[in-house]
Order: sequence, then structure tokens, then C-alpha cells
Amino acid sequence: MPMNWVEVDLAALRHNFSQLRERLLVNTEVMAVVKSDAYGHGMIPVARELVRLGVRFFGVSTFWEAVELRSHGIEGPVVVLLGIEEADLEEAVIQGIRPVVYRLDHARKLSETAGRLGRTAPFHLKVDTGMGRLGIPMDQLGPFLDILLKLPHLSLEGILSHFATADEEDKSYSDVQLEQFRAAIESLKERNVPVPYAHIANSAGILGLPHAHFQLVRPGLMLYGSPPSMELPQPVSLRPVMTFKSKIIQLKVVPPGRAIGYGRTFFTQRTSRIATVPVGYDDGYARCLSNRSQVLVAGRRVPVVGRVSMNMITIDVTDVPEARTEHEVVLLGPQGTERITAEEISRWQGTISYEIYCSIGRNRFKRFL
Ligand code: PLP
Repeated sequence: MPMNWVEVDLAALRHNFSQLRERLLVNTEVMAVVKSDAYGHGMIPVARELVRLGVRFFGVSTFWEAVELRSHGIEGPVVVLLGIEEADLEEAVIQGIRPVVYRLDHARKLSETAGRLGRTAPFHLKVDTGMGRLGIPMDQLGPFLDILLKLPHLSLEGILSHFATADEEDKSYSDVQLEQFRAAIESLKERNVPVPYAHIANSAGILGLPHAHFQLVRPGLMLYGSPPSMELPQPVSLRPVMTFKSKIIQLKVVPPGRAIGYGRTFFTQRTSRIATVPVGYDDGYARCLSNRSQVLVAGRRVPVVGRVSMNMITIDVTDVPEARTEHEVVLLGPQGTERITAEEISRWQGTISYEIYCSIGRNRFKRFL
């Protein structure tokens, strides 16, 4: 057993999925976004659980994530959100992996490859409706379609876009994006191209913009149990899926005035019980949490004191007299009646919960409950 590990609560995932499903019309399908190892939760076990719950579509960033899903028996449509490069197109067509298309050279190569293999390649067309990141800008969509739709071996399975501000209270910019998205769908319909799946809604869009669900929605964060907005009250009860645990490996009584850790950034003010926990920035516990964050021991909050180092932190357990070596330490998640959330860590760290999950989950030993 490693000295720190992540527990993934698949019952919480099932709960979050049912919260999601309750907000969708029966015919609206779900593309579960399981990129970046399911935001650090473990892509394969998460995807398998979601398949059991009826999910068919999966969204990943890279071709290799899609191949991994396939090699673990995930058979439904897997959509590669960053698109697929030329070298991987043949394998993608053979395995029925769908690229997101936003470049004509990719589209041409995809058609050529599919033709050579005697197949038709499904793909999803990405339009930039205001995020300014990936996708065909709306003012170039017409000429793009004129060429794209003449390519012989392609079949449009979906059109997608992405919201820039769906997590904000003011929905006016999302509505502008939606209007653009509807115009893009219209351009396809005018050219007699059927659009089986239009999709734009991430978690924030799903919860805050029910008129943006179309035929398919793309939740990520809400499946993992975090609200998409840290500022707004959310109309949904989600259960965090990830817990990050370790244990006390040494405990010592230290007199007042002693320095703890690199740089001597913390001095004991009283006779203190300082515990060492084998978790550091290499484990996704950011160095900027030094002297800022709290962890749970025996169901109580205790402070991280001194610098977070590569593989260790030091915590002050003076106020938890029952703390002993080998006792469990929870860095993220519940213990007793207390809980440390990813939102809380992200505030200490100056980031968002997405980054907390990805960095803690990456390469971590996982137990699936
Ligand atoms: N769709 C795309 C294209 C994304 O990049 C992401 C995540 O970043 C999502 C959907 C899911 O977003 P969320 O995790 O906010 O639900």
C-alpha cells in the first residue's frame, strides 16, 4: 500500500449522474467528459460505471485516451475534443473514434483515409461561437462548409461549441453564443445536412441554461461532484467523488520557538505536537499551500505548518491529543463530520476545483469504492 492514495466513490458518481439525468429530457443524451483521466478520478473505472448507467458518448482530449477506452471495451462513440492528427487517422477510422474537426487539412485527410479503408468516418464539427479558442470562427463557416461538405467519405455526427462564461450569473454572453450556435446549425440544415447531435452545454450550461441542452450535453465537473460555479448557489446536490488520504508517519513534541521545514517559515508558539505526512507537491499538493491549508485528523481540522516539500508536509496536531503515528490524514474529502472540499483547497491555492482534482488524481494510487 502506498503512503498516500485517492479513494474514488463510485456511489457518489452514480448519485451525481442521477442528479444530472433528472435535469434532462428523456431523449437528451450524455457525453461524459472523461479527459485527463476523468479529471484525475481514473478514466476506465469511471467510464465503465457510466456505461452501466446508460452513457454512450465519451469526450476525451487525445486520440490515445480514446484508444485506451476502446482497449477496455468501451464501444460507444468516443469523441476526441482536440481533433486527431494525420498519423493517427487510420487507426481512428478503424476503431470508429470520432475526431472533432476544425481544420480543412484534417478533414481532407480523414476523408481520404476513410475512402482508402472503404469506410465513412463520423466526425463532430467545432464552431467558435465566442470562446475564441478552438473551432471555426462563425464568419468563416460558410466557405468552410462549402469545401467540407463535398468531401466524400465523411458523415457529420455532431456540431459543437463551448461556452466561455456559463458559470457566471449574467447569462447574456452565453445567450449570444447560443444564438451563434443556432445559426451554425441552421447553415447545415440549409445545405440539407442532417445534424444528429448538436452539443454546447458543459456542467454550468446544463444547470444554468436548460434551453441549451439540444440532443447531447457534455458534463465533466458535475459528475465528479463539484459545482461549476464557486460563487453562485447551485440548484443541485452533488457528492464529491474524490478523497485524498495519507497517514502520520512521525509525530514529535516540539518546544516553543522551533522552526519547522524548509526556509524556517513557521516557528512553534507553544509546546507543539508536529506530525509529518508523506504528501508533497509531487503528489499534487501544491507548494503554495504552505502555512495556508488545513487537513483532517481524527475528524478535526488541523493546519499545515511550514513549507510543503516535494514528498512531505508537516501539520500541527497539538489540539488533537488522540493523534498518533499511523493515524489517517484526509487532505481532500470527509472524515467524521468534517469535510475539506476541492473548492476550499482551490481558494487557498488561487485556482479552480478542476485543477485540484487533476493534479491530486494524476498518477495517484486509487481505490474504487
Ligand atoms: N466540453 C469541452 C469541450 C470541455 O473542454 C470541457 C471541459 O473542460 C467540458 C465539455 C466539460 O466541462 P465541465 O467540466 O465544466 O462540465
